[in-house]
Parts: sequence; structure tokens; C-alpha cells
Amino acid sequence: MAQVSTNMINNDIVEASCVIDDKYSIIMGDERFYGMIGKELPNSLLNLLYLDDREIFCNFILDMEINKPVVVRVKVKKGTYRWILVRKLNIDLKKEHKEINLMFHDVVAQNNTFKIYYDNTRKYRAFMNYVRDKFFEYEFGADLITIYMYVNGRCEIFEKDTLDEWEKRVVRLGFIETADIDMFHRLCSNIRDGVDVFSINVHTSLMSKGFRMDTLNFRGETIVDATGKVMVAGLITEMNGRYDLKSIMIGNDANKDSATGLLNKRAVTDDVHDIIQNANSTKEAKKLFLMIIDIDNFKSVNDTYGHRFGDEVIADFASELRRTVGERGIAGRIGGDEFMCLLTDYNTIEEVRVFLTAIRSKLRIELAKKNPEYTFTVSIGISAYPDNGTDYDTLFKLADGCLYIAKEKGKDRFIIYTPEIHGDLINSDTKLRNLHISANFMKPIDKLDMIADLNDKLLKEGRCVLDKVLEDIMNRMDIHGILVFDKEKNCDKIFGHYKVTNIDGEFLKDDKYIELFDSHGVNVIFNTAAIAGDFPKAYTVFSEADICSTLQIKLLKDGEFRGVICFDTFGEHKRKWSETDICTMYMFVRIIANVY
Ligand code: GH3
Ligand code: MG
Repeated sequence: MAQVSTNMINNDIVEASCVIDDKYSIIMGDERFYGMIGKELPNSLLNLLYLDDREIFCNFILDMEINKPVVVRVKVKKGTYRWILVRKLNIDLKKEHKEINLMFHDVVAQNNTFKIYYDNTRKYRAFMNYVRDKFFEYEFGADLITIYMYVNGRCEIFEKDTLDEWEKRVVRLGFIETADIDMFHRLCSNIRDGVDVFSINVHTSLMSKGFRMDTLNFRGETIVDATGKVMVAGLITEMNGRYDLKSIMIGNDANKDSATGLLNKRAVTDDVHDIIQNANSTKEAKKLFLMIIDIDNFKSVNDTYGHRFGDEVIADFASELRRTVGERGIAGRIGGDEFMCLLTDYNTIEEVRVFLTAIRSKLRIELAKKNPEYTFTVSIGISAYPDNGTDYDTLFKLADGCLYIAKEKGKDRFIIYTPEIHGDLINSDTKLRNLHISANFMKPIDKLDMIADLNDKLLKEGRCVLDKVLEDIMNRMDIHGILVFDKEKNCDKIFGHYKVTNIDGEFLKDDKYIELFDSHGVNVIFNTAAIAGDFPKAYTVFSEADICSTLQIKLLKDGEFRGVICFDTFGEHKRKWSETDICTMYMFVRIIANVY
């Protein structure tokens, strides 16, 4: 039988390793390496690298830091170049010549495997969310009943107890309607006796733990699992259709944020809009609270504990938010670490405070279990309907303005809009933050993919698509504006809404300013105001154009200076560029340099 190797996709080898010495000579490669590169190996590994990438690669090898990978183009068997992520597994200094053990990962091919796996599980999970049923399982030996539910694409345990205990407890707590108690005992006997197939309806408040009566249908079957273990498994379905079509649609991919299972930005905005409109058209005095929540220092969470931990924080937060908000409102994800909730079932701000205190402390404790060093905090802005406004835009701006104030005051707090304290947040000059929602947050590997695609586009279609490519990267990387200065340092291209359009590149002619660029030709200014003293000319240009942060990268081709590209953000939104994003933009500029 043909063996499917995990190291291959569509006959492409995705992982390989080799050993080189400090002169880049290939000492040996594993079988996969020959499969990837071909049998004819050059003496020097450098000969396999794309010319422009050799310097980066040499710097990578010279750097003794073991953990930092590099992505370079490597010529593979078919004579084509592939983006390969290279890692140092170890450096052996004991040998006469230093030996470096390298691991190669084909970035695009690996991304594809991940996608195939991800698409499959996502389909399944989307379905589970859609169904909204709970699942139960009974193990005979242990007499254990477990009820599962799918929340945010993850399986969570809703109940786990011995069948005896569960049966007694549920009745004792009054979760079963009196008239149905016999029926409930019959259900438990069916499970216990391993009846082949059964279907029983019970009127119970089990789902909401005493909060609301539902008619539940328990359908079960006795099965033998793959290991030969006999068990009962089944579905618990809600019969009285408490979930209307709209809430079922929460499970629909089109309305859902796939990473958290919450409503996505468009869906939550539409729903909040509708609920406010409805409240306006009824005579009942309805109270609503709009909250915008943003996780504090999330970038440094990623930087310190890794992206995966960051993803878990988001998933945990979303799932807690969903559970806590429950039926008492709606919740959605409107940005990377930013969420919006409309609480529809609270009457006073005091109740809202209790809700917020509960969710904040719960998360702090839960996340500390996963990583004791991390203290989870969020900042929240809140506005109230109808007291502060009766339309979505007003309520959103007020809540968002309060969130900004919460951040300014040092984060880890909620600010409830109070006109006497906060004044007119809508019309005044209060420095409302420039809403910065990274709707298309990408994983680092997706960024590399994007760069590889743009590279292909430029290679195929040439300079004529340059403007489109620049605009594309601006939107996808959440950049407010891009300036391209030519080698004479005149402004050649401008994208985005700069306050002035005649931007003078004179400041780039100052040698002292050029010294700000590092050896790779990169200059990051987090806060342009900070350079006012040393570089007044540059500062004047930045402040006139309303540039508050800038990432500037030299366009270099074969070492020759061709210009500078600036990636800017405006107003109050100072951008802290992450290492990954700087590398992404650096690669992008190197590609541009070839056609510019
Ligand atoms: P602040 O305290 O002012 O809110 O700053 P912050 O560091 O939290 O940064 P900000 O809210 O401006 O930006 C959010 C960052 O969160 C941007 C991005 O690096 C990261 N991020 C966004 N979405 C995701 C995600 O899905 N997973 C991970 N791991 N990180 C994300
Ligand atoms: Mg944040």
C-alpha cells in the first residue's frame, strides 16, 4: 500500500534538514533535503539562494541567536524558487570547522497543509455551532454521564457526574417540571439499561440551570466505540424553538467571526442597529447599554508569550463574554482584540458594574492558571440608551470615546459615559482616537503568503501594478498612508488621506536624519513628536501631514539607493510595529525595489 508521508504535499517536500559549515559548504543533507533540492548539490548553500537574499542569510548564520528564523528564496529541484523558512537547530562549535544544523520549511506548502486541516475541522465545528444541540455520553463502567456543548467551535463540558447523582440532583433542584419527573426517571433508566434506541421529551430548566423551562428531546443510542467500549451516546435538542432564526444564524459562517464564534463586526453592528431601532419604535421604556471592550497591551502579550497564547487569550475572553452575556444581550468581535456588546436585559448601571466586575475577575483567574505571569486586563467604554443617545452612531462614538479615555487613564478600567465629567465627546475637540480596527488580522504565515502573492503579481505584471499593490498592502496591513520618495528624495507617490498633499522630502537630505536608519535601511518612529527637538524640519513635515507614527524603509537595489517608502499612521494612533510586521514590510520593500 502506498505510504503517505507527512513530509510531502502534492509531491512537494515541505520540511528538510541539512548541515553546513561556517563557509556555507553543505556537509550533508537528509533524504528530504535531496528530495527538495535535487541530487546535484552545489558546494555552497549560498548558490541555492536568490541573489538578493544571500546577505540576509549570511547575517542569519553569523547571528549566534538560535531561535530567530529567516525566510529566504531557495532554488528547489524544479529550478524554481520557493519561500523557505530556515531555522538553526544547533551550532556545533567543537568540530574543527563550525557545524550548523539547519531545518528548512516550505512556507507556502506548509500553509496549504494547515489550510486543508483547518478547513475540514472548521466545517465540522461550524456545523456544531449551528446545531446548538448538546451531546451526551454515558460510560457504563464508571456510571458517568457527560453532557457536552459546542461553544466558539470548542467542545466544552456542560455537566459531568455519575448518572445516579445527576438524576437525584436535577430533581432535587427542581429543574424538572413535576408532571415530567416520571418521564425523567424513565430516561435515566433507559440510559442505565443501555436501551438500543430511545427518544424522550422532558420539560426542564436543565439547560439554563433553573433559569428557564424548555422542552428538551433526549435521543440516544447504545453504541460500541472503536475500542470495543459499550456506551450510550445521544443528542439533546430544544423543542420549543427558543432560538429564533436570527440566533441560529449566529452559527452561520457569514455572520460569525471564525476564531471566536462570536458575531463578526458587520453582524453585530447590524443587530445593535436593529435593536436600537426597535427600542425607538416601542412605547416601552427600554434600557440598553453599549460597551466597547479592548484587551490591554495585547501586542506585548503576543510578543512575550507568543501568538498562540495570544489566540487563546482571545478565544477564552470571547467564550467568557458569550457565556456571561448569555441571553442578556449580544456580543461580537469588531477588531483583533476589540469587542462590542449590547446589554439588553439590565435596568441599571449598577447591574452592569456587577457584570463587568464578574467577567474581569473570572478571566484574570482563568488566564493566570494557564500562565501565572500574565495578568489579563481590559479597558471598557460604555454608553446608555436612551440617556446618552437614541441612535447607534451617537452611542458608539460615546462608548468608543470612553474606551479611549480608559486607555489614556492607564487602562484596566471601565469608563461609563457621564456628560458632566466627560463633556461632549462627539462635537468637542476631545482627542477621540482614530478608530483603528484591524479587521483582517493576519497570522505571520498569512503575511508571508500575502507578500509572496504580491511578489508574483509584480513579477508577472510589472511596474504598472505598483500603485495597486501599494494600496493593497496599505489596506491589508492597517496603514493609514504611504509615501514614496524617489532617489532625489522628492515625493513621487502618495496614498491615503494626508492632511496636506505637497509633502516635502527635504528632511531626507539631512545626513543626520539618514543615520536614524539601521543597517537594513529601516527607521521606525513610534512617536513623531519625540524627534521634534533633533529634527525640526522632519517634525514640521510630519505634524503638517498629521503623521504620528512612521515606518520608513530605504529602497535599495543591489546596494544602490533608489528612494524611501514611508508607512504612516495619522492623528492619535501611534503604531507600535511588531518585529513580524517590520520584517513583512521590509520584504515587501525589497520586492518593490526590483521594479521601482
Ligand atoms: P492597547 O493596550 O492600547 O489596547 O494596545 P494593544 O497592545 O492591545 O494594541 P491594540 O489594541 O492597538 O492592537 C491589538 C493588537 O492585537 C494588534 C495585533 O498585534 C494583535 N492581535 C489582533 N488580533 C489578534 C489575534 O487574533 N491573535 C493574536 N494573537 N493577536 C492579535
Ligand atoms: Mg488592545
